[in-house]
Amino acid sequence: MSARILTADRPTGKLHLGHYVGSLTNRLSFQDQYQQYVMIADVQALTDYWEDPDLIIKSIYEVGLDYLSVGLDPLKTTFFVQSQIPQLFELTTYFSNLVSKSRLERNPTIKAELEQKSFGSVPMGFFSYPISQAADITLFKATLVPVGEDQQPLLELTNEIVRKFNHLYQTGCLLECQAVLNQRCSRLIGICGQHKASKSLGNAIFLSDPLPIVKEKVFQMYTDPNHIRVSDPGKVEGNVVFAYLDAFHPNSQEVVQWKQEYEKGGLGDVYLKNILYKDLTDLLEPIQERRQRFTVKDVKEILYQGCSVARTVANTAIQEVRQAMKILSFE
Ligand code: ATP
Ligand code: MG
Repeated sequence: MSARILTADRPTGKLHLGHYVGSLTNRLSFQDQYQQYVMIADVQALTDYWEDPDLIIKSIYEVGLDYLSVGLDPLKTTFFVQSQIPQLFELTTYFSNLVSKSRLERNPTIKAELEQKSFGSVPMGFFSYPISQAADITLFKATLVPVGEDQQPLLELTNEIVRKFNHLYQTGCLLECQAVLNQRCSRLIGICGQHKASKSLGNAIFLSDPLPIVKEKVFQMYTDPNHIRVSDPGKVEGNVVFAYLDAFHPNSQEVVQWKQEYEKGGLGDVYLKNILYKDLTDLLEPIQERRQRFTVKDVKEILYQGCSVARTVANTAIQEVRQAMKILSFE
């Protein structure tokens, strides 16, 4: 049996360039080689968007269209929606016994997200979402997980749970997984230059942004505030335009040269921003054209079929888990 892949996105908005480099490009190459599952994590989205179910519904379809627009193919990849697979929530409950509160508190991803979100009082659902994520990955027996860098600590936690579960219940039914990062860019910075590009932070270029908006966002990008005249020496580190050229310009040698010239002085921000805009246009135009070929009705049909496949897989896996845990059956 070929390796299984599982990844997910939260339907909290449309997908952006961070998703593209962080996860979608690897998913595109994996769908030809492996059994790939892609989940729309609507229940996880509720952990911080519980007051906005309409946004979640709308985003499920937008994210579905984003998948199709980049070339993910329902004949090769199974797409499904988290809330439609009840076995995931059962496994989350069992896993909750194996993870301590302090272990979650120490998780760097959760720590950073809690700081950013400034909840008055932290909801249990949000605090414990890494446990539910571990259930998603392990129930589908995924061993490869193409994700951005922010997910790595969560995958380490998943593997801790797997080892603990298998040892405790003397079974091998859960598999450890490995994060697959994009070597070229595993964390795309937002146009603000402060945080990673994120749907929730309003600092991302979306795959479906009209090109004039893309241009506006490129020209808003944080560069080096001390690089006032073209002849001034500029800083490359922390410069968002260079981070995006590193991620998207097809000729990396040219980027190396521009960095040297920029540091010496003599290369203008406008010149570089125009090059970046052209690179992004070349990338996004075909994606946006493909998006036009699909409708929400197509997405609904694809998800309907995918959920049915996913439920069958999940049902077999949860039976193994119950057996290992000696949970009685009264059917
Ligand atoms: P939210 O703000 O709602 O958390 P998000 O933009 O962080 O949304 P997620 O749905 O949480 O997106 O992430 C889905 C996948 O995309 C994860 O694998 C994550 O690592 C990856 N990803 C998201 N943002 C980036 C980024 N800026 N750079 C690289 N990978 C990213
Ligand atoms: Mg996120």
